[in-house]
Amino acid sequence: MNSSYPQDGIAPIVVIGAGAVGASSALALASAGHRVLMLDPRGLCGGTSFGNAGGIHIGAIQPFATPGILWSAMKMLADPQGPLLLDWRYLPRSLPWFARFLLNSSARQMSAGAAATAAINHTAIAAWRKAADAAGVAGHLREVGWLKVYDREQDFLAAGSERRLMQENGFPFELLDAGALHELEPALGPSLAYGMLQPGSLFVDNPGRVVRAIAEAAIARGARFAADEVRSIRPCAEGCVVQTSSGEVLASKVVLAAGAWSRTLAAQVGLRVPLDTERGYHVMLPTPERSVGRPIMFSRRRFVLCPMEEGLRVTACVEFAGLERSPDYRRIEKLLPFTATVLPGLDTRIQSRWLGFRPSLPDGIPVIDSVADGRVIFAFGHGHLGLTQGPATAAAVLSLVQGSASPFPLEPYRADRFFLSRITSRT
Ligand SMILES: Cc1cc2nc3c(=O)[nH]c(=O)nc-3n(C[C@H](O)[C@H](O)[C@H](O)COP(=O)(O)OP(=O)(O)OC[C@H]3O[C@@H](n4cnc5c(N)ncnc54)[C@H](O)[C@@H]3O)c2cc1C
Repeated sequence: MNSSYPQDGIAPIVVIGAGAVGASSALALASAGHRVLMLDPRGLCGGTSFGNAGGIHIGAIQPFATPGILWSAMKMLADPQGPLLLDWRYLPRSLPWFARFLLNSSARQMSAGAAATAAINHTAIAAWRKAADAAGVAGHLREVGWLKVYDREQDFLAAGSERRLMQENGFPFELLDAGALHELEPALGPSLAYGMLQPGSLFVDNPGRVVRAIAEAAIARGARFAADEVRSIRPCAEGCVVQTSSGEVLASKVVLAAGAWSRTLAAQVGLRVPLDTERGYHVMLPTPERSVGRPIMFSRRRFVLCPMEEGLRVTACVEFAGLERSPDYRRIEKLLPFTATVLPGLDTRIQSRWLGFRPSLPDGIPVIDSVADGRVIFAFGHGHLGLTQGPATAAAVLSLVQGSASPFPLEPYRADRFFLSRITSRT
């Protein structure tokens, strides 16, 4: 075993990935007295958790696979200013994912997916407060809710099923007419006629800084960190042998929290999980003189205006192009003229650009499961909600490590729920 890792006879739990899920897991495990080694070649919070919209968006329980999604996806793809992009060269690789996605789009599956997401999201706020307190960043959790705005009645009416699912699953919301909307957010443009506010959601005004602070809090509690890439995981009698870019380490257990990069490592312990990535972009703009007080999603073009600590962030796009292709910022840049109709007077000079990789499973629910006879814990596939669900997932990871009750039922999150997912049981 490589001597650059701690060698004092006690094999650590190796956490692969230092994003919202891995950092939160490391903190939960280190706080409970476990020896932890966190590995990530991109450093602390150098992946997708850095640049998202900052929503602890608990009411976002409607899966993307809904009845009629095929038709609306076609329309979005055909729209040169739409939010959905597909690199046609990537289509052969993504076809199985799309097939499973469509198979999950019945009304029954949509309701089941919403209920599973609701179960974890109901624990998300308490889990976030605990993690943020431990990391000394509670001041970055802002109690401003999440606001969705509409300029056309047809879009507002079409979102009825989303509201029904929230009602059925206990997530309150307020509907706003034009007057109430502009009273709440006076800087919004006059074309906006409807709003839906989810007051229970929180907003993280600097996700990169906050997730990094969570990772640092884990380190302050004894966790070690190395900027190494994990190349392989091999279960053995004592736990797992983890091969990294710097050598080998014996782990008592492994927590696989490598976000969109988890698929290959998961296959090494015998499970073929249909993980793909929905790429998403952000641009940073200067904070406008008249800004908004909370994250605001413009429903028709599906971009979000996020009043971050360091400027106004615009997040947008779902792009299917895999993990390797270079970023293509043209679509998000094309959306900028629309941002100025939502927020008049916006200075659209771009300060910085970013591409992130949502780790997405076709049923829209993460995998949180103990596999390889308890030697490996899977915690990945959080799609559009990994920031929201990071600390809540960590609480479930801790329960799987310790064999205690999870804060929410884990059956819907099983790794072998996908058809033909089990390759072998290489334990
Ligand atoms: C534009 C955009 C907006 C979003 N908005 C929101 C939002 O408002 N609210 C919300 O809840 N979610 C949002 N999301 C989704 C959210 O950001 C992701 O679900 C979340 O960041 C996933 O967290 P993670 O820890 O699983 O992955 P990551 O943050 O990507 O972390 C995984 C880490 O694993 C590391 N890794 C990969 N391979 C290896 C290896 N072999 N060895 C070691 N380490 C490895 C990577 O370097 C990476 O740092 C958004 C995403 C995007 C793209």
